[in-house]
Amino acid sequence: MSLFRLIYASRAAEALTPANHEQILASSSRNNAKVGVTGLLAFGAREFLQCLEGSREAVNATYTRILGDPRHQDIQLIDCRDVDQRWFGEWGMHGLPPSRLTRQRVLRFSEREMFTPTRMPGASAIALLAEVAREIEAASEAVPTVPAPAEPPRDRESLLSRIGLKRQD
Ligand code: FAD
Repeated sequence: MSLFRLIYASRAAEALTPANHEQILASSSRNNAKVGVTGLLAFGAREFLQCLEGSREAVNATYTRILGDPRHQDIQLIDCRDVDQRWFGEWGMHGLPPSRLTRQRVLRFSEREMFTPTRMPGASAIALLAEVAREIEAASEAVPTVPAPAEPPRDRESLLSRIGLKRQD
């Protein structure tokens, strides 16, 4: 099975609340997990940038459903291609909230301070998603491991007391 990645941007039909974001993410995660689709959905104040990855068949079916959703409009396909690995392999749909789309990050990839992926150069939108993918991967690798147990006592006194015996002089 070959892997396929599709990236699009769109404008919200009306201003969406965090509860609306949660609702979209919940159905995305539920549906995508069933068909092996993973990805990222970045929410701006009025715009979306989404990456979908999985089998070409599953990604196309998901995208076709998304195209018909009245919650967004002006849907622009930015990129679709066969790829050799996923960027968001752990996530049915990882949500990137507006708080993670800082002014600094947005300005690095676009001429505007506001996150408006429908007006970003395609290459910049792809570069932004790739950066977020690297950050997520680095964060998952940085998860602290369980600390090793303390070194067991080696002297005779301590060993005897650990097994409930007292030294007999
Ligand atoms: P449910 O989520 O249970 O919703 C039932 C129906 O109500 C659907 O037809 C839905 O379109 C509609 N609906 C729900 N809430 C609203 C609302 N507030 N306004 C208008 N209609 C509403 N789906 C995925 O499966 N995977 C994705 O990756 C994905 N990404 C999305 C990205 C964006 C930007 C948007 C706007 C939607 C996305 N969706 C995604 C949702 C998708 O468009 C469908 O709504 C969803 O797949 C339908 O899933 P469901 O049958 O489980 O319906």
